Amino acid sequence: MVAGVSPAGRFAGMTDSLRAWIVSQGEELLTGQTLDSNAHFLAGRLTALGVRVLGASTAGDRVDAIEEALRAACERADVVVCTGGLGPTADDLTADALARVFGVEVEENADALAQVLARYEAAGRRMAESNRRQAQLPVGCDVLLNPVGTAPGFAFTGDARVFCLPGVPHEMRRMWADHVDPWVREQLDHEPPRRHLFRVLGKGESQLQDLLGDVPERFAGVELGFRTKMPENQVKLVAAPGVDAFADAVSEVRRRLGKDLFAEDESVELAAAVAQLLVARGERLALAESCTGGLVGHLCVTEAGSSAWFDRGWITYSNRAKRSDLGVAKDTLVAHGAVSEETAVAMARGAVERSDAQWAVAISGVAGPTGGTPDKPVGTVCFAVVGPGVERTRTLRIPSRSRDLVRRFSAYAALDMLRRQLLRLGS
Ligand code: ATP
Ligand code: MG
Repeated sequence: MVAGVSPAGRFAGMTDSLRAWIVSQGEELLTGQTLDSNAHFLAGRLTALGVRVLGASTAGDRVDAIEEALRAACERADVVVCTGGLGPTADDLTADALARVFGVEVEENADALAQVLARYEAAGRRMAESNRRQAQLPVGCDVLLNPVGTAPGFAFTGDARVFCLPGVPHEMRRMWADHVDPWVREQLDHEPPRRHLFRVLGKGESQLQDLLGDVPERFAGVELGFRTKMPENQVKLVAAPGVDAFADAVSEVRRRLGKDLFAEDESVELAAAVAQLLVARGERLALAESCTGGLVGHLCVTEAGSSAWFDRGWITYSNRAKRSDLGVAKDTLVAHGAVSEETAVAMARGAVERSDAQWAVAISGVAGPTGGTPDKPVGTVCFAVVGPGVERTRTLRIPSRSRDLVRRFSAYAALDMLRRQLLRLGS
């Protein structure tokens, strides 16, 4: 770790007044069948609230393993969030395990049963006898309403407050928002830490370190963290709620990042940033893709409302398709090759001419792992952006031999090239 820089969120605004432990339950998590996204989600949310997550553990489908994990968690932490094992089958054992930890019986809980019955009634289905099992809960627990699934959650206060949530990720997230998040906020004697995210393209971590490394010294109480989420890099500022310098630090980082900054929100993707600029100009986009095979189109139509600015795309993989679909001249292909700026710009021009779009982006490259030559090695990708009064080309050497990475990186680079071009023109 670089001096003066800590992973954002680890220290600033953290409290030890509430310490958390996460328990994930499910044999499939221990056999490599399911990735534990629940623990990932919960760790992020708890940290964002300023709660220190001391650890996480995983238990398979044996009641004593779950009991042991819950017991250890309760000994160490003030709040335990457990997911999974609330279903109707014999391997759903969380309620039994929790009852053992606190030395209470399990019995049919009337509130929980009413909840399960109501779910079936609303769906016009008869409840299977096995679903009664989902109402077998530790005596003295609080039942938590699950509006999006059949298994009710429950919470129990002993040495720690334990929340048991369903394993199904979207149910778990809803129950976090409805039940755990409000409870945690009530316990805390402070506001959650302040955090600000910057999403960056075109600068690596070491460049960002050089550019921003002095921020924690200049703005007292503000911490800086970096994260790579290929191909973007993220910068995070975190501070305790009362830190006055936070807003100034945010403005300063924004100013220094300049055009490399494409979004300041986790939910705003690169295509959305491009969309905003296109919509502001009332213009539309067409795509001429070769090695990305539709990946750029995929990024575009992933955005809701894309019909307002996305017109169409071609996947012209063969030379023949580049000629017949986009009008690339045979001479251009023979003289410069398919992977060339000359071919890319001809593809983009062809796309503008044949569509209702003012802008086109073209991509042609060597995705690998084979097919590279000494002057066009794997990872050589040519781009073109054509728009009103604009023709730009660019060649990148993407330092990877992984086909997936080259394609992914190229798709983002193509959209980013367009974004920078649009920014230059203004709206
Ligand atoms: P249900 O009533 O649906 O059975 P449950 O509480 O019993 O709910 P599980 O049976 O443990 O939940 O898990 C249901 C599904 O949710 C699993 O098949 C798995 O796909 C998913 N799941 C469970 N735990 C996790 C986790 N930690 N991370 C990601 N997915 C998970
Ligand atoms: Mg289950």
